[in-house]
Amino acid sequence: MTASTTIPISKEFDFPLQNAEGETCTAHAWAKVPPQLSTAERDALMQKSAELLKARNAVLVAHYYVDGDLQDLALATGGCVSDSLEMARFGRDHEAQTLVVAGVRFMGESAKILSPEKTVLMPDLEATCSLDLGCPIDEFSAFCDAHPDRKVVVYANTSAAVKARADWMVTSSCALAIVNHLKDKGEKILWAPDRHLGKYIQQQTGADMLMWQGACIVHDEFKGLELDLLRKQYPGARILVHPESPTSVVQQADVVGSTSQLLKAVIDGAEGETFIVATDNGIMHRMRQLAPGKTLIEAPTAGNSATCKSCAHCPWMAMNALQGVVDCLAKGTGEVFVDAEIGRKAAGCITRMLNFVKEHPEALVVKDGGRLAGMTPGIGAA
Ligand code: SF4
Repeated sequence: MTASTTIPISKEFDFPLQNAEGETCTAHAWAKVPPQLSTAERDALMQKSAELLKARNAVLVAHYYVDGDLQDLALATGGCVSDSLEMARFGRDHEAQTLVVAGVRFMGESAKILSPEKTVLMPDLEATCSLDLGCPIDEFSAFCDAHPDRKVVVYANTSAAVKARADWMVTSSCALAIVNHLKDKGEKILWAPDRHLGKYIQQQTGADMLMWQGACIVHDEFKGLELDLLRKQYPGARILVHPESPTSVVQQADVVGSTSQLLKAVIDGAEGETFIVATDNGIMHRMRQLAPGKTLIEAPTAGNSATCKSCAHCPWMAMNALQGVVDCLAKGTGEVFVDAEIGRKAAGCITRMLNFVKEHPEALVVKDGGRLAGMTPGIGAA
């Protein structure tokens, strides 16, 4: 077997859908997405949230994919808007005793694992992720048991129990560098759960990686053929792609990277430059704020006959709302708990990643055409 071979895995460990039964759970999530607020309602909830954050000595840690109001609230009240790597670091290092995590369940769990003494609240505890749902601990544990000769590397988008079974956790910001590091040490890798990200890393590093077959329901929808047609309409546009996208989309990218890395590519672009962006469209809010002179186009998730050309938005991220922030702070709802023993074990693989990134800041550098992008104040690891 060559170093870059993907080992065919049994159907038993094939989880391309959202859960082991193959059910899609998104209808439930969309049904919980709150209706649009009037300006007066929005302003009142923003003010109430800010007062409660202050009164509870709490800080809001938000992901780029959540509603723009929550992102604005986080920045206006001393919190952060970032990718999952920076969210984990920010929550751990902040002095606040209560963290409100606006994102999805695994982000709240990671915050609690890194700060077990803090109270971690979420606007809606049912906000989850298809990658997490598609990697149940019992099946994943059996997969690991069947391959004891491999280092277990899991993506951040997994449950605390799955992280507790892993040797390393990675985010899309640092996955390439950590897998390269393990490969240089002669390690063989068991990778989970995102098949597209795993394939991209395997192609880039040549590492020996055995893949779990999960997928993100948002990024999995980007279409290579449609993107190619769109590029022809905008011949000067640069293509930015998150590596959870299919290979046919990643292959057309000028920049492949995490949300922070894609954001930095837009900020660093020339005035008036056009970008086609293949990631959750929640990121457009921050991109427009930080790069107002650029033209941003959402990458296509459907063909000409579809009513919606791009519907790239995560239903679980969309469940996060201002009312949820008010409720969790006022009523103490949405508190995240992680079993102490699972948390202690999971902390090992998360801390290993954070230490690696601290010792190897170059790990976060992404190739942007001929340029190299480094750390950027205000947007974290880029
Ligand atoms: S966008 Fe995809 S990877 Fe991110 S939380 Fe939603 S389902 Fe999970």
